[in-house]
Amino acid sequence: MSQRDQPLLPPTMLGILGGGQLGRFFVIAAHEMGYKVTVLDPDPNSPAGAMADIHLCKAFDDSAALEVITNTCKAVTTEFENVSADSMEFLSKYIYVSPSAESIRIAQYRVLEKTFLKESKLPIGPFEIILEDKDIPPDTSSIYPGILKIARFGYDGKGQARVSSQKEAIDAFQQFSKQECVLEKILPLDMEVSLVLARDQKGHIKTFNVSENIHTNGILDVSIVPARSTSAINGLINQLAKSLAEALNYVGVLGVEFFISEGKVFVNEIAPRPHNSGHYTIDASETNQFEQQVRVLAGLPLGNSRLHSSAVMVNLLGDVWTNSKEREPNWDKVLKEPGLKMHLYGKHEARPGRKMGHFTVIDENVDIAFQKAMELRKLLGIA
Ligand code: ADP
Ligand code: MG
Repeated sequence: MSQRDQPLLPPTMLGILGGGQLGRFFVIAAHEMGYKVTVLDPDPNSPAGAMADIHLCKAFDDSAALEVITNTCKAVTTEFENVSADSMEFLSKYIYVSPSAESIRIAQYRVLEKTFLKESKLPIGPFEIILEDKDIPPDTSSIYPGILKIARFGYDGKGQARVSSQKEAIDAFQQFSKQECVLEKILPLDMEVSLVLARDQKGHIKTFNVSENIHTNGILDVSIVPARSTSAINGLINQLAKSLAEALNYVGVLGVEFFISEGKVFVNEIAPRPHNSGHYTIDASETNQFEQQVRVLAGLPLGNSRLHSSAVMVNLLGDVWTNSKEREPNWDKVLKEPGLKMHLYGKHEARPGRKMGHFTVIDENVDIAFQKAMELRKLLGIA
């Protein structure tokens, strides 16, 4: 079903495929507004499942579970880009689905994603599509030094290898079992930034603020908002993200990652869902990215996205637990800070690199927020 005339009102049951932390925040936002939520996720300990009205603990393509969703929910969304696009397409025959299976197909497959960005004339760095050995350029190519990235299922820097020659690229391709890849030129980065936006069923767009992102080992570590990029660059990023959403005819919440390299802006990748770098909106924006997701799905007008405080978000990875001498990190020390907003996802097992939670420090002044966040980070033993 493509559009509705009347919005879905509480206590309508909404569905979501995926039960990670993004799904958990969706459940929280939906509950706050009075909606009910069914979560589909095979993990019995899923962070969103624990909070949902109904947790269907089944595979994402389980036909009986999908049928329960079509019978009990009026609309369905997703929280992770590797969701089965076929499942979303199946659901769309019976109930309202956003984002569309088509948008998800593009965002989850780097080959289609790069091709779409290029055809839409959005600025992207040099890349090659690698389907077989012979697609790997010779040493004389200006693509080196580059990053070979698997075209599907990569996340948090996984499935990526830095290569400086044809030989290294061939070896890395072999390591990835010769699955489809893209080879990107490594851009010298001035800064990484992202922008989260929501586009509703009528095509109205609300953008959140540009977030400056610091990655460590390929994983988002810290987000600083407002970003310290120039207002000209921030304006351009807003414009690019909007035209991207329009070109994709996207409906839902969209995260767009950008590189700023030697003063120029490049689109890195897109996420067809709320984005980790948009978590600051929970504590620092009038409406947060998850409420926007609920609003789009329900066919309500988008909320105001104005930033009311500066914010610095710090991700808490499993390392904070595994490096701690105690079973739990020393929460007491950081929870004393009145400007800190703590969000723990209730994941049962802490593993290095696994996103277990985040905190956001809000302040009128972004430099003060940053300084406080760095001090609190140290108290938790993060280097
Ligand atoms: P993921 O899906 O894992 O987020 P990305 O393509 O965003 O994959 O890459 C993860 C990180 O690796 C980026 O945020 C950036 O720090 C670095 N990176 C990726 N591609 C490039 C590139 N072409 N040039 C420079 N750095 C890059
Ligand atoms: Mg990324």
